[in-house]
Order: sequence, then C-alpha cells, then structure tokens
Amino acid sequence: MKSIEEIKPLLESPKKVVITMHQKPDADAMGSSLAMYHYLIQKGHDVTVISPTNFPDFLKWMPAAELVLDFESSNDKAMAALEGIDLLFCLDFNALYRTKNMAPFLEKMDCIKILIDHHLEPQPNFDYGVSDTSASSTAQLVYETIYKLGDDKLINLDIAACIYAGTVTDTGSFRFASTSARVHRMVADLMDRGLKHEIIHQNIYDNFLENRLRFLGHSLLNRMEVFYEYNTAMLAIPYTDLKRFDLMTGDTEGLVNFLLSIQGIKLAALIIDRNVEVKLSFRSKGDFDVNTFARKYFDGGGHFNASGGRSSDSLEKTVERFLKAIEENEEQLQ
Ligand code: 5GP
Ligand code: MN
Repeated sequence: MKSIEEIKPLLESPKKVVITMHQKPDADAMGSSLAMYHYLIQKGHDVTVISPTNFPDFLKWMPAAELVLDFESSNDKAMAALEGIDLLFCLDFNALYRTKNMAPFLEKMDCIKILIDHHLEPQPNFDYGVSDTSASSTAQLVYETIYKLGDDKLINLDIAACIYAGTVTDTGSFRFASTSARVHRMVADLMDRGLKHEIIHQNIYDNFLENRLRFLGHSLLNRMEVFYEYNTAMLAIPYTDLKRFDLMTGDTEGLVNFLLSIQGIKLAALIIDRNVEVKLSFRSKGDFDVNTFARKYFDGGGHFNASGGRSSDSLEKTVERFLKAIEENEEQLQ
C-alpha cells in the first residue's frame, strides 16, 4: 500500500469518488466519511457517501448526513453511484467484509482503493492509504491527511464538526489511552477555526428518546452479570428486549462502557441477539487484549481495548461460549 500523501496527484483533476464505511456506522465512521466528503467536494470531485446499512438517528445532525445513501434501502442509487468510479475511499474499517452486503461488489471493483483507518491487522487489498493504530480515530487521520495534502486551508466548520464528533466518541470523550497530545492539539486547531463543541456533545449524547434510558435501567438491573473471579462483567440482551423497548439503530451504543465502571473489572462484554445473528462488543482496561480475544473466539476484531465480533449460535449458546472463553483466559484476566 502506497502512503496517503501519494494520492495528491490523483486529486488534481475531477474524479468520480465513493466514500464508504463499516456497516452500522458509528460517529467516527460517519464523521470521518463526511469530513472527507466536505473536503473532496471543495476539490471539485463528484462524491457520494454510501453506508452499507442504516445509521443511528443521533448522527443525522452531521452536515450532509441527509445525502448519505444506505446501500440496503437505496440500493439502486448506491449501485449507480458505484458505477465507473475512479476512487473508492474506505474509512474506519480495514477488511472488506465489514461492509456487509457491499463487500462482494467492492471486491470486484477495479478502481483505486484508498484506506484511512486505525484498526489492527489491515487486509492487503488497498492501493493507497494510512493504517495507524496509534490514532485516536479515523476522523483524526482524515484531519492529518488533509494537512499532509497541503489543504489545511480547506478545513471549514463542516469538516471540523465531523472530525470532532468522530474523535470525541472514539476517545470516550477524551479519556481513553489513545487521547494523545496530538489529539488535543488537533482539537485546539479546530476550536481556533471556530468549532462549537458543546452543541456537538448535546447532539450526540443528549438526543435519545425516553425508552432508551428505560432500556438502560432494565438492562443494568436485570441483564447484567458480574464474574468477579474473572474480573469480567457481561450484559446479554435477548431480542425480546430490543422489541419491548422499541430500540433503534444506535440505541445500544455505549452500553458496554457502563460495565467497565465497576471497580476491578478488566473485561466488559455486551452480547445482543439481533435476531439474524448475535453481535458481541468487548471493552477492556489495561493489558487485556480484546482484539485477539474477538478474533480468536468470535470471528471479529478491532482495537486492543475495544473490539467486536459475531456468532451464529443462539444467545444462550453464545453466552456459554463466552464463559468458556473467559475461563480459558483466566490468567490474563487477573
Ligand atoms: P463496537 O463494539 O462499538 O461495535 O466495536 C468496537 C470496535 O471493534 C470498533 O472499532 C469496531 O470497528 C470493531 N469491530 C466491531 N465488530 C467487529 C467485527 O465483527 N470485526 C472486526 N474486525 N472489527 C469489529
Ligand atoms: Mn473508529
């Protein structure tokens, strides 16, 4: 993979571009993609952002979010946008399968593929890009890419808002180990450019419906289990709960982090029956590597302290497998 700076000549004449992200995008996937969008349109390119699936309502405030095509519900438009593209930007994921139903199409496309990402162990099917696991977020890498391309004067308030949103969420509001001085310098620069951060926090964190908070209370009271011998806490959510509380995409985001607030807990797991498959989210504190854990047991991956996976077994069977997995990792969990 050639370095990201080397795309500079490719951007000198108008191109047909698609930007895509991982399925069920979070604020970093959407924020980095839309920041890239606002940058590339200023450079005169024909740009479409495609999400492999729908995305949470709490991201709809992002500038140009209304232009993002959902590959599932607007398939015809998305396929037309992919037709004959010159450049494909892949943001906030590094293995094509993470684009779900889009993956078979992306694999076949012979356009130039550009990766901007911070997850561990990238697949080798990209022509240009940056894969920096020390970066707090993909949004931060988009910001740095714009600088490297000599275009920092193009960082406007739309770009700043999108970048800030991706960074604040992926750093757990600037608390995770990935929150380097580099992150704070970037935010200072965005604020110098006029970024209003308070409204972004409100848009992301204070914008849910009552049922989501009720669901949170119910889950913590009735669905949480703590295994002190393994310093592990788990939330297993049956599909009936998702129905009962009428949850929407994104409503379970952040839930797993509550478990890590229990004294001594090193590993937190959120296991949700999404009906078609069971989705797992892992978070850890300190030296327990949940990227390897998710890869080994649940066909997933991610970062050292935050990862995800899936299972085609029932919720009960998946929980059983999880408990067996933590038993096997007892030593590392001490
Ligand atoms: P989340 O738990 O928020 O869904 O994901 C946590 C982190 O793990 C994110 O960086 C996400 O991109 C990554 N991740 C989640 N699910 C998967 C998966 O199935 N495979 C891989 N490789 N990464 C995942
Ligand atoms: Mn990310």
